[in-house]
Amino acid sequence: MTSERYLMVFPELCTGCRECEIACSLKHDGVVGYQKSRIRIIRDVFEGMEIPVVCMQCIDAPCMNSCRVEAIYVDERGAKIIDYERCIGCRRCIVVCPLGANFLNPETGKPIKCDLCGGDPVCAEFCSTGAIRYLSPEEINSEELRLASRNYIKALIEREM
Ligand code: SF4
Ligand code: SF4
Repeated sequence: MTSERYLMVFPELCTGCRECEIACSLKHDGVVGYQKSRIRIIRDVFEGMEIPVVCMQCIDAPCMNSCRVEAIYVDERGAKIIDYERCIGCRRCIVVCPLGANFLNPETGKPIKCDLCGGDPVCAEFCSTGAIRYLSPEEINSEELRLASRNYIKALIEREM
């Protein structure tokens, strides 16, 4: 089953305020901490812009496909979820993510990634500029938004840090 809504990112609207990071780490771990956030703001020094990096929930997800202990599954929204009971912390899923959107939790040695907050992503809720949005297919159904989405993924893949 696939998601009825999709997380979309518009980096040109990102001011780098990091409210999404704070909201995410608070929601998931009860702390304010970059290293606990499932979304990370990076600065592309060459383009002079801030880019929110977050999982795009690939349909044919390399992270899920590469896991040898089948510790990543798809929920009813299409989110790729890590089963920490099965995860052995080998980090293959972190290495293979083409967007660099699967992060290492330094405390557990295991990956952390976006889980769509069970269908109500707080990053989108707290982003005051509209740089992160959780949209329905009807809302996305414009060439302008599709182009924006393609540009975002291209910016992530081609970014230099
Ligand atoms: S963590 Fe990376 S590979 Fe896995 S679904 Fe998200 S973007 Fe795709
Ligand atoms: S959707 Fe939720 S889990 Fe994913 S980045 Fe946003 S706040 Fe974090």
